[in-house]
Amino acid sequence: MITVVDPEAARAALAAGDLACPESRCAGTLRIWSPARVRCVQLPDGQRRRLRPDRARCRACGVTHVLLPAWCLPRRAYSTDTVGTALLAAAQGAGYAGAAAAAGAPIATVRDWLRAVGRSAPALTAQAVTIAGAAGEADLCWPRPTERCSALTSAVHALGAAARAFHLVLIRPRPAPTRGPGPGTDIDYLAILGERHRRQLLHDMRLVDPTGAATGLTPWQAINVLTAGRLLTARRGSSQRRSVPCHALPRHDRPHHDARTAAVRPFASP
Ligand SMILES: [Zn+2]
Repeated sequence: MITVVDPEAARAALAAGDLACPESRCAGTLRIWSPARVRCVQLPDGQRRRLRPDRARCRACGVTHVLLPAWCLPRRAYSTDTVGTALLAAAQGAGYAGAAAAAGAPIATVRDWLRAVGRSAPALTAQAVTIAGAAGEADLCWPRPTERCSALTSAVHALGAAARAFHLVLIRPRPAPTRGPGPGTDIDYLAILGERHRRQLLHDMRLVDPTGAATGLTPWQAINVLTAGRLLTARRGSSQRRSVPCHALPRHDRPHHDARTAAVRPFASP
């Protein structure tokens, strides 16, 4: 599964053969394979939205990948924002019934969501801190020292901080440095370095956003991108599978699969 921010842009890149296979040891490119199964997803307002996402197949390894929009979670009949509504309600103290009422979903379903996030809360928190820290916003991940909260609440708090960093820092290009009237000695080198750092972070996250669609993501959709579609299926330990948060890197941006690159993957254990 590949989480995509802009399905139309992803489809165009796929048709052009510009998407690299996300499998860790594969150098192949993806091509259009077939439409995935039709699914109906419940939105926060209770309405259901029907979609049939694209499915790609790697020319080299033959593995297929569904290109799922960021407003969807894999194998869930409820949208990312609906699930997020329940998580936020629980983080604010609601029980299963209250969170279910807030999300408009059955109590048993919401209980499964909350338990899933509770089990993987330490890993999700660590992932969020990694992202926010890379953007210089790690301090916002931690609740105030006087607050006592559950692991789920801590994870939601940290994920919110990571989404904020994503919107405010990671996906917004810094203004181009301006050259003063002098002979070029007053270039804002800090701005240049800052922009290089931002681009490197996105590269390390394997996140590309050629159309700027990421700026329109809701906070929970951004969290879905940052957790590579694994908000409800994150592993408890440190062996998070390598994945593609936004959409697969274009061929020319493919990172080298050496030890150094692998070590800076987001959401690997810190
Ligand atoms: Zn492949």
